[in-house]
Amino acid sequence: MQVSAENLNNDPIQIALQQAYENSLSQTGGALADYIPELARVDPERFGLALATAKGRLYTVGDVDIPFTIQSVSKAFSYCLALELVGAQEVRSRVGVEPSGDAFNAIEFDPVTRRPFNPMVNAGAITVAGVLRDVYGAQAFEKVLEKFSLAANRPLDLDESVYRSEAETGHRNRAIAHLLRASGALAEPVEDAVDLYFRLCSIRVTARDLAVMAATLANMGENPFTGTEVFDLRAVRDTLAVMFSCGMYDYSGNWICDVGIPAKSGVGGGLIGVVNRQLGLGAFSPRLDEKGNSVRGVNALQWLSNELGLHTFECTNSGSSFVEQLLA
Ligand code: GLU
Repeated sequence: MQVSAENLNNDPIQIALQQAYENSLSQTGGALADYIPELARVDPERFGLALATAKGRLYTVGDVDIPFTIQSVSKAFSYCLALELVGAQEVRSRVGVEPSGDAFNAIEFDPVTRRPFNPMVNAGAITVAGVLRDVYGAQAFEKVLEKFSLAANRPLDLDESVYRSEAETGHRNRAIAHLLRASGALAEPVEDAVDLYFRLCSIRVTARDLAVMAATLANMGENPFTGTEVFDLRAVRDTLAVMFSCGMYDYSGNWICDVGIPAKSGVGGGLIGVVNRQLGLGAFSPRLDEKGNSVRGVNALQWLSNELGLHTFECTNSGSSFVEQLLA
């Protein structure tokens, strides 16, 4: 286990992070995603955990500098960006905010509106990619990558080979996009929307990057390490709300009860957790459970939530100071 030089070994947060790591290391269940060869070739033993505070302190343990593809974790950030660019009303007219209770790649839409249930499932994320493509045009990927890089405080890049595989094999996503186009949720050409979606899933990040990106959301859209305003405040609020109810695939209800923080996972083994105004968590361990969430990542975040009292409804959280004054 390597502990990064930036950490003080006797810091209680560092100790908690190390304990979460050690407690999760023995969890060797689950399997690598294998729908494309690149993901099936990843070293299954890799495990990294990072915690970045909203005041700009970073704690790390394990393989926090190993690159992997962001996959569905990108959905949270793309949604945030779309909200900022065209406004919540326009985005909501095209993508709902209801948990679907079904798998991420389900071919199903809200029976009343014919819109995707939410932006954290593929149908919703493809629609969001359509919105971004519409606003940014042919340069959309570069523009979004720039934003993600500002959030990570490092120039991120594309894993070309994952992107090619996603694009070559993504027939189900194309099918979803055609249905979205037919129902009117997707206004842009199918190939434009899915190509951007595949690229966004194929952005290379590390657990350290994810923690900093999550801390940027925790810090109301401002990167706590650079002071750069990356995301709009109101868009962050709406994004965290959807991450809270829909971020962990069809495990989201259990997650809210047991861990209680907005989160998003991806089939590359990445996972972010956001504790509003406090900190961002980034985890990477590529073995996935049957819902598609990182086995060790879920265990580690649950452990940290319990240990550090991060659950939104933790009884020790005193809540709004304004209301507190009224109750006094
Ligand atoms: N590229 C994957 C897909 O669209 C992303 C899935 C995920 O991380 O949930 O199938």
